[in-house]
Amino acid sequence: MEERIYFDYAATTPLDKRVLDKMTPYLTDCFGNADSPHAYGRKAMGAVDEARSIVARLIHANENEIYFTSGGTEADNWALIGGARAKRKEGRDEIVLSAIEHHAVLSAAERLEKEGFAVRYLPVNAGGMVEIGEIEKAVSDKTAIVALMAANNETGVLQPIAYAEKIAHKHGALFFTDAVQYAPYKKIDVKEMNADMLAFSGHKFYGPKGVGVLYIKNGVKVEKLIGGGEQERGLRGGTLNVAAIVGLAKAYELACLEMDENGKKLSALASSFIDKLASVGGITRNGAGDNALPSVVNVRIQGVENTTFLFNMDLQGVCLAAGSACASASVKPSHVLTAMGLDEKRAKESVRFSFGKYTTEEEIERGAACAKKIINKLRG
Ligand SMILES: *Cc1c(COP(=O)(O)O)cnc(C)c1O
Repeated sequence: MEERIYFDYAATTPLDKRVLDKMTPYLTDCFGNADSPHAYGRKAMGAVDEARSIVARLIHANENEIYFTSGGTEADNWALIGGARAKRKEGRDEIVLSAIEHHAVLSAAERLEKEGFAVRYLPVNAGGMVEIGEIEKAVSDKTAIVALMAANNETGVLQPIAYAEKIAHKHGALFFTDAVQYAPYKKIDVKEMNADMLAFSGHKFYGPKGVGVLYIKNGVKVEKLIGGGEQERGLRGGTLNVAAIVGLAKAYELACLEMDENGKKLSALASSFIDKLASVGGITRNGAGDNALPSVVNVRIQGVENTTFLFNMDLQGVCLAAGSACASASVKPSHVLTAMGLDEKRAKESVRFSFGKYTTEEEIERGAACAKKIINKLRG
């Protein structure tokens, strides 16, 4: 069989070799617990300090505003739950989030609902974007926190976070953005974004899995989610995952350095792919392509059920997804696509191709040809 093709970079990315090289010493000789006061510990903490300073500089934050977590999921949960609980002390008992947030944010919202918070969901238009008028309608002086992701993981569509930030702050609410998909492709400047909290994750930009960042602006009160030791300024217990933290910083540094180059390459590859695929007919793009990440192509293939399509593609060695990997075991149609107004049938005819820095012209050609063959066969 020809080499397998990976078109699922939005689910995760392979580790960059340069990142692995940077991590290796901290998985072997420099194994100390960063909180130990002896030489082993000091060496490990030195590496964590350096990683924290790299991340802080790249997003225009202070070092004491960077909190390392076990990934995007933990950062999302912490931001929403910790932020809402802290704000409740001011008598605020509503939260506002988009209907297309990642499941990490949605499930945190469900937990808050059980604690008595009212949850207001922002709808999206047919292009997959929250409309700014909806934000204004939903936010009030009762709002504890507004959560709006910077870019959606299923469609790649960029969201109006600058506007959401303004409305949230006008009403004295916190503003949080999940920038997990945004971080590999768009520069983050927390000063300019004026977010109170912002999350991203190492494995979406060629770093290790199981490590993420929650930026919390100085002065913003957030309750802790994970208690334990006094790590992360007493707000996040648990022995620091030194190798992963070092890897995340290296990976993010490389992502920022190579961002423009990768973005241009991916835009070209994605548009070439969609052109090739569209020639089979009955293909419609989900989500506005010009206001989106360069890496994601979500399409509806008329008359073809996505589970059957994905199964056949996998048999031919082409790996992609119906949407979020976290929801791929479920038989429910995507909450993102249904929020965009697709009915169940259309949502279940939709798939997500996501490309990355190791995607080649040859893979685009072979992948599109394979998809077309399978589509024709399944349409019979
Ligand atoms: C992948 C992803 C997450 C979850 O991050 P993990 O590090 O895998 O826990 C959260 N939000 C978005 C938008 C994502 O794409």
